[in-house]
Amino acid sequence: MTDTKYIFVTGGVVSSLGKGIVSASLGKLLQARGYKVTIQKFDPYINIDPGTLNPYEHGECYVTVDGHEADLDLGHYERFLNAQTTRANNITTGRIYQSVIDKERRGDYLGKTVQIIPHITDEIKRNVKLLGTKNRFDFVITEIGGTVGDIESLPFIESVRQLKWELGKNCLCVHLTYVPYIAAAKEYKTKPTQHSVKQLQELGIQPDILVLRTEKLLSNDIVRKVALFCNVSEDAVVQSVDVPTIYEVPLVLQRQQMDVTVLKKVGLEVGPTPELKPWKEFLDRKVNATETVTIGLVGKYVELQDAYKSIDESLLQAATYNNRKLDLRLIHSEKINNTNAPELLSGMDGIVIAPGFGHRGIDGKFAAIKYARENDKPLLGICLGMQCMVIEFARDVLGLENANSTEMDRNTPYKVIDLMEEQKNVTNMGGSMRLGAYECVLKKDSKAYQAYKKENIQERHRHRFEFNNEYKEQFEAAGMKFTGVNPETGLAEVAEIPELKWFVGVQYHPEYNSTVVCPNPLFVDFVRAAIENK
Ligand code: GLN
Repeated sequence: MTDTKYIFVTGGVVSSLGKGIVSASLGKLLQARGYKVTIQKFDPYINIDPGTLNPYEHGECYVTVDGHEADLDLGHYERFLNAQTTRANNITTGRIYQSVIDKERRGDYLGKTVQIIPHITDEIKRNVKLLGTKNRFDFVITEIGGTVGDIESLPFIESVRQLKWELGKNCLCVHLTYVPYIAAAKEYKTKPTQHSVKQLQELGIQPDILVLRTEKLLSNDIVRKVALFCNVSEDAVVQSVDVPTIYEVPLVLQRQQMDVTVLKKVGLEVGPTPELKPWKEFLDRKVNATETVTIGLVGKYVELQDAYKSIDESLLQAATYNNRKLDLRLIHSEKINNTNAPELLSGMDGIVIAPGFGHRGIDGKFAAIKYARENDKPLLGICLGMQCMVIEFARDVLGLENANSTEMDRNTPYKVIDLMEEQKNVTNMGGSMRLGAYECVLKKDSKAYQAYKKENIQERHRHRFEFNNEYKEQFEAAGMKFTGVNPETGLAEVAEIPELKWFVGVQYHPEYNSTVVCPNPLFVDFVRAAIENK
């Protein structure tokens, strides 16, 4: 293919319409036609990255292989495209300004007054184009966070306007809006969409394609009306009707030939419609599964829909590949203790102990782990979850009273989890954890090896604390083995009790590495063990 094509996805009317899913679905359809596609997210907030934001603000923090703490939409992009993203795929206002200010301090602007236009917009445009040219992508889809009209997103929208002008046919704008149903009038209303498009037009952008989020299918009359009022052709008005799973959205868009419309608009040949075979196979399995597997997720943010997004999706994928429906039960770690653990957990086929930071809810995690260990329930501990498994074992099996992580208790007599050496002098909190993909070597006779079926794996990390290897012998002698180790540093990456059916803790985050067509083996094997345990 010749030039990289740039597609921008903006949103109007309200937020949370699923721009990320629409971007990922369109990306999937283009990728299935043989194009090299990547998706980028621009977030209009001032934080350099979401790494310092708590889940109440921002949901899950996703981590890329190159160690960038990213918006959770990058998780959707990876799960849909089965392709890795990097720090170049997620840019915030903060990063744009930081880069411009650094250049100003270096004297790069040669005495000029530094302004939003052209300096900030040029920096935004540079980041869009860099992604396309550096990796020779055929399509770069850029999702603009927020809603059109927000003060924060204006420089991004202005950059889209300029790029549309500069790139001509090689650039498209897809605008996602909402068409509400007014129950009292028994009517769908298009006025908010008209206004939102008008707002975009006022900012100099004519959208090329409209995606209408609606609860039910809209009539042709409504589609015609939207097309007429918004200056788009009827075939460029796509409906994104509510579907039972986000993984159906690519098929919804394909039925309406959204990818064909894109190809025609950028002047590419259309060719045959791709079959999306592995994708449909996954959906078939999901629909056809009749039996259920019940998994309890123990964490302190369970009331937030997006806090454990990648874990939820990894479990769903793992259940589906085990031909089961996932019944995910969210268990608040502050509400569980040794007394009520049997009542809350006995109905679970398997238990996941969530990652996290800080002291809140930690005792509940110990209670859940103790219950699972003593009753031989399959258990997967992730990051802090693994650290809690170590602490619980130290206290209840080794008899090391008040053993702890120095994150929770600096003066604990038994520092079984302690700050990593390279973290000891870190004062800056942003982007300074052990982040991104690291090698891990698995012991052949372990549960982890059985899952991955290979010795050398790479998984992503996000933590400051680690298992204290001074205690290794004592733990192993009592039955907790460290079956996965970083070959360079000797850091413990996997802890398990081989005597139990399936009791595995991982210092890394397998959930960042699980996609629809390539589910993470550890989750798949954990769910298999949970089913076996039923
Ligand atoms: N708080 C722990 C650490 O920093 C675990 C982090 C996590 O669960 N992601 O080591």
